[in-house]
Amino acid sequence: MKILVTGGLGFIGSHTVVELQNEGFEVIIVDNLSNSSEKVLDGIENITGIKTEFEKLDLREKNAVTSFFDRHQDIKGVIHFAASKAVGESVENPLLYYENNINTLVYVLQELQKRDEANFIFSSSCTVYGQAEKMPITEDSAVQAAMSPYGNTKQIGEEIITEVAKVSPIKSIVLRYFNPIGAHPSAEIGELPLGIPQNLVPFITQTAIGLREQLSVYGNDYPTPDGTAIRDYIHVVDLAKAHVIALKRLLENKNLEKVETFNLGTGKGSSVLEVINAFEKVAQQKLNYKIVDRREGDITSAYANTDKANTVLGWKAESTLEDSLSSAWKWEQKIRS
Ligand code: NAD
Repeated sequence: MKILVTGGLGFIGSHTVVELQNEGFEVIIVDNLSNSSEKVLDGIENITGIKTEFEKLDLREKNAVTSFFDRHQDIKGVIHFAASKAVGESVENPLLYYENNINTLVYVLQELQKRDEANFIFSSSCTVYGQAEKMPITEDSAVQAAMSPYGNTKQIGEEIITEVAKVSPIKSIVLRYFNPIGAHPSAEIGELPLGIPQNLVPFITQTAIGLREQLSVYGNDYPTPDGTAIRDYIHVVDLAKAHVIALKRLLENKNLEKVETFNLGTGKGSSVLEVINAFEKVAQQKLNYKIVDRREGDITSAYANTDKANTVLGWKAESTLEDSLSSAWKWEQKIRS
């Protein structure tokens, strides 16, 4: 059964391709390489032994998207990762984000709408909840006004899917990720942030390896036990497995609604200082960090209520924070060696 993975050479996409292949799916990747490299195909092959079909394609090119789907009538499901994801860049260049994250989604859905059956998995984010009033965050928590154009593209994307599903054969599962971290335990694939990392864990590993001098901890005056901000860090392999389970649910028509939404997190919140301490234990070295002012736009706390994912989807995160950090560290050491 052939599955299209858009953005399949990226961080989460590449790990999902591996899990799909482990479960016997045939995968075709499209990616424009704007935030990835063709070398990722070798990493995937080293893990699964499979040479994955790949087409370099920019999903902003509407005619090319139509031609792609015309040539691949046998695609049974689409996992749509392709998007730009840097929050700061989206504030500086909103139209780039609306063009890339919205147009690509619309073009793919336009093609799927023509089919008798279409199964579509969408990468959304816990950013849709903003600073939720109650922790842990359930799927019923209010969606709040987005704090960045990037966050807005996820909210608009969810709305587009809901509206299109009402009037077309498209069935969809929307996955709201908390904070994906880590790498494949083989260290064959992992995260490759361009430039200065915006996220905590790549910044930690790059500091530990000596690429960055010091890690800035943004604020220790939040209303949390140690004053630093709390997030729900989920191992990328656990996250990848959730996509395969969600896809099977759609393919087997087990979904209860045309569009279902699930939180993907561990259910456990960790503060920045807890993550640093756990990393120091795993890597057996001290990390050079300093406390600086809060960063604009950062919220205090976000962690998932995972009951719906556990009971309805039948998925549960298995890895610990230490497992995730240890795989991220192994990957960082491998790519710098
Ligand atoms: P990533 O940048 O590593 O992967 C995205 C891939 O899409 C890249 O390989 C990029 O080259 C490709 N791409 C971008 N625009 C494209 C286009 N127009 N045509 C074809 N390919 C294109 O990002 P990721 O971390 O793997 O994230 C995957 C998805 O998950 C994104 O939609 C992202 O917004 C979402 N998400 C990520 C996080 C996170 O923290 N990583 C959190 C929540 C949601």
